[in-house]
Amino acid sequence: MNIPKSSFPRVVIIGGGFAGVALAKKLSKKELQVVLLDKHNYHNFQPLLYQVSTGGLEPDSIAYPIRKILKDFPNFYFRLADVSEIDTEKCKVISNIGSLKFDYLVVASGSKTNFFGNKSIEDNSMEMKTIPQSLNLRSLILENFEDALLTSNLHERNALMNFVIVGAGPTGVELAGALAEIKKGILPKDYPDLDTRTVQINLVQSGDRILKEMSEKASKKAEDFLEDLGVHVWKNVRVTGYDGNVVTTNSDLTFEAETVIWAAGVKGAAINGIDGEELLSKSNRIQVNEFNQVKGFNNIFAIGDVAQMTTDQTPYGHPMMAQPAIQQGKHLGDNLLRLIENKPLKPFKYKDKGSMATVGRNKAVVDLPKFKFQGVFAWFVWMFVHLFFLIGFRNRLVVFINWVYNYVRFDREARLIIRPYKNKFKP
Ligand SMILES: Cc1cc2nc3c(=O)[nH]c(=O)nc-3n(C[C@H](O)[C@H](O)[C@H](O)COP(=O)(O)OP(=O)(O)OC[C@H]3O[C@@H](n4cnc5c(N)ncnc54)[C@H](O)[C@@H]3O)c2cc1C
Repeated sequence: MNIPKSSFPRVVIIGGGFAGVALAKKLSKKELQVVLLDKHNYHNFQPLLYQVSTGGLEPDSIAYPIRKILKDFPNFYFRLADVSEIDTEKCKVISNIGSLKFDYLVVASGSKTNFFGNKSIEDNSMEMKTIPQSLNLRSLILENFEDALLTSNLHERNALMNFVIVGAGPTGVELAGALAEIKKGILPKDYPDLDTRTVQINLVQSGDRILKEMSEKASKKAEDFLEDLGVHVWKNVRVTGYDGNVVTTNSDLTFEAETVIWAAGVKGAAINGIDGEELLSKSNRIQVNEFNQVKGFNNIFAIGDVAQMTTDQTPYGHPMMAQPAIQQGKHLGDNLLRLIENKPLKPFKYKDKGSMATVGRNKAVVDLPKFKFQGVFAWFVWMFVHLFFLIGFRNRLVVFINWVYNYVRFDREARLIIRPYKNKFKP
């Protein structure tokens, strides 16, 4: 990997997401050699992926070069590497660009989509975890409208204009709201010769309320917002399959749709070498103790989405969200320094700062630890928080300008089919 030998201990971090970057920033001014490995050369701000998928933002505005984040730190090295295995005995990581020994290893590889073993859904539905996947979705949505315009088969046209989003967590809700706004504000202008009133947006949730991690009030209000926008919210319906044409459910309800977006589950992106029932939870997250240490190892840690810290308060680990990842990254930074200095480690304590979701223009729900509010003010808070956590002044400025422009003009100008999408499983 062309990393020079150093007299400082080497900390290898796998993953430059929220957790990995927070940790690297903490460590990089210390007497350590920090090597960050990621299969992408950018940090991806996942909470705004749905805006890329729906033409509201350009992908560049939610991504930031990892090398630039840490450019001022002398002992920091970044390598573009896809890590395939961890050799815990020999203390080395193995990747597509070679292997590297570590003194301390931190796995911060995040999560991936969980299809719960359903192959038909995995092959035919769309994911939205990465920027390329969001661009695929953007292309598919637009290509479907172009195809709908050309077909005289009503059945086919309806399927092309029928969207099914499975999973009504923040991602599903935000995506449904954005699609509804496109239906209302953009499609009639772009496709005057297509009856876009027949576009259907279906949000399917297996439980009895949407945004189930938030307060009941937030769930109810978000559902009202979605219904005002014309989204069909289906609760207590479990999707059981999708063959590329028809979505089946656990009831008589079926949907004929060309676009199905799977936002119904994530699992840890654990890496070979740290596996087995003892080390992994049911959701493929690496079991860690209160110091983020992987069971049985003194020098191997996991943080963020991939880590499951099971405590009385968090029987299923911390929520797979940005805040626990950032907080664990920072906390482990301090603990690693304590470990190197032979000082006792401090247990991680999560500070819940609340959660929020937006449904569309002037519509959001916010649950803070002490206050819960919905509507226009919540929407401004949602925008401010997302701008604040974006990395890079340019990104913040570009996103802000885009949002103002989109708000004033009721527009989303990034509705471009730059790279046409073709599902490899479809004839
Ligand atoms: C669509 C969407 C919307 C979301 N909205 C919100 C929200 O509104 N609020 C919120 O708090 N959270 C939200 N989340 C969740 C939040 O983004 C995650 O909890 C957070 O990114 C976790 O941070 P992390 O550092 O653990 O992982 P990630 O940010 O996912 O970073 C993991 C990194 O590891 C790299 N990597 C993975 N495997 C390998 C490998 N084998 N080799 C090399 N590199 C590897 C990846 O390329 C990636 O850069 C959302 C997630 C998604 C997908």
